[in-house]
Amino acid sequence: YPCEVIRNFSIIAHIDHGKSTLADRLLELTGTIQRKVTGGKNEQVLDKLKVERERGITVKAQTASMFHESMGKNYLLNLIDTPGHVDFAWEVSRSLAACQGALLLVDASQGVQAQSISVFHNAKERGLKIIPVLNKIDLPAAQPERIAAQVQSTFGLDPSEILYVSAKTGKGIEEVLDAIIKRIPPPVAKASAPLRAFMFDSFYDKYRGVISLVNIQDGTLQKGDKIVSCHTRKKYEIMEVGLMHPEEVPTKSLNPGQVGYIACNMKQSSEAHIGDTIHRLGEPVEALAGFQPAKAMVFAGVYPIDTSDFPKLEESINRLTLTDRSVTVQRESSSALGQGCRLGFLGTLHMDVFRQRLEDEYDANVIITAPTVPYKVIYRDREVMVSNPTDFPDIGDIGIRVKEVQEPVVKASIIVPEEYFGDMMELCYSHRAEDLDHRYLDSGAASSSRIMLNAVIPLSEIVTDFFDQLKSRSSGFASFDYEDAGYRRSDLAKMTFLLNGKPVDALALIVHRSQQDSVGREWVKKLHKVIPRQLFEVPIQAAIGKKVIARETLKAMRADVTAGLYGGHYERKMKHLENQKEGKRRMKKLGKVDLPQEAFFDILSNK
Ligand code: GDP
Ligand code: MG
Repeated sequence: YPCEVIRNFSIIAHIDHGKSTLADRLLELTGTIQRKVTGGKNEQVLDKLKVERERGITVKAQTASMFHESMGKNYLLNLIDTPGHVDFAWEVSRSLAACQGALLLVDASQGVQAQSISVFHNAKERGLKIIPVLNKIDLPAAQPERIAAQVQSTFGLDPSEILYVSAKTGKGIEEVLDAIIKRIPPPVAKASAPLRAFMFDSFYDKYRGVISLVNIQDGTLQKGDKIVSCHTRKKYEIMEVGLMHPEEVPTKSLNPGQVGYIACNMKQSSEAHIGDTIHRLGEPVEALAGFQPAKAMVFAGVYPIDTSDFPKLEESINRLTLTDRSVTVQRESSSALGQGCRLGFLGTLHMDVFRQRLEDEYDANVIITAPTVPYKVIYRDREVMVSNPTDFPDIGDIGIRVKEVQEPVVKASIIVPEEYFGDMMELCYSHRAEDLDHRYLDSGAASSSRIMLNAVIPLSEIVTDFFDQLKSRSSGFASFDYEDAGYRRSDLAKMTFLLNGKPVDALALIVHRSQQDSVGREWVKKLHKVIPRQLFEVPIQAAIGKKVIARETLKAMRADVTAGLYGGHYERKMKHLENQKEGKRRMKKLGKVDLPQEAFFDILSNK
């Protein structure tokens, strides 16, 4: 396969606009997979993880090669599927680096959405050829003309270039293959030049160890070759090369311009650096521009419900991070929860997905503390990043030893039908938004025009309930995306919670001063609900520094737990005593207060 018959492309789209479905149709039409129908529902071949199928989102980018004959020539088409959620923007950019073109898929009933715009700019910046595709034209609600006009005005793309398809029925898919071949330029790579391969993904295989996906930019690669990583300078020997078709199929070699997998004697996933360049031993080349590594933006402590389970939990976390390298892990301990890990995630969905994978794949029940974003604490002589509320300076130090504290902010864009515009403005203001501005996406007097609203919002406001509220206040019509916009000075404080006068470290939070009273009251109420009564009265307090800002009092209980169960069956009484015994085993003493570990689970998992 010489370069001129190779096409490396990706499908980019807002979530649910049909990437996975279109990918499956392309694989079917090229005979890469058989059409599978399970219970009337198409199985999505590229969405491999269970959580991806359940949630209908693509988490790990997957790659597949297919063969297609057109005008008497046999082409090798390499599709790189990309995730569609903002948290995984990093995976999108690394996938795009191996492509020369992208299909920009837009749902013809929904129109351009927030992520359509961000993925478009991402692809555009990399100089990719973009093919606009309107999907779901089979839907009665589809408005192809109107959405085509939107595509033209938003992206400046020529309407004559737009393809109209239904990934569901298969209509127009042939034309998509033709357009890929005709419009996307072949990769430029030299067979005679020294080997230069770009590593854009890796995963762990039980039998063969680390498998890396590479794009051969120059030269060829085959079994037995000795290679060196530009990044680590470590040497390896190639054990196997091949294509993803869509599973691994070994081939004799990987040739210039191709995308495929390599297995070498790399033992640990941590050795495979995404964005790394590989060259042949003794033939050094200049490294290709890599990527910015994933930046963790949401941190949370993860603890086992049963404290003796920590080694098992840690092992599970370590194994899982082998397949998701964007998660950062650090050990931490808490007087309330014992030994645990502080994990860093790209966003809250990423955190949820990780938690679910932990539960699915390793059967682990965990307590996750409230998410925190990374704050910047500027002392007179140094800057410190704080991702654990316990490490945040005391209020008395701010303005004295600490010059100022800063929080990360993002540039948010929301696309919403006009009638919800007012609600969205309110939502933004109640989440401390600044620099609001907006414009219409549809030109002329279209009914129910869409508006794009931009604002700068603190990231901490977004990691809590922003997305849920956005969806519910817009009846599901608003779409949302954001990008990093640096740090801003902010009036923040550490809020601590005291049980019987003793602070509980695992519950500390960082709050904006304007919200301290409402947050304090809300949490104190929650604690009051889940903490079991003790033999004595327990004050539950929220404090900032020494100042108590909210309080509830937990009344003392009567000594005999069965006393309240009037007229109950004997078994019921016994069960209650049994439960109490069971509870005792896992009780934690905090100050003098007995607290079952489960109470933390209830407090922290209950939003
Ligand atoms: P992704 O999130 O972009 O990967 O989107 P999916 O491929 O998972 O599709 C999202 C939903 O839209 C699924 O329920 C698909 O069955 C449905 N869908 C995809 N393409 C079409 C289409 O052409 N027509 C219709 N009616 N539904 C489609
Ligand atoms: Mg998908």
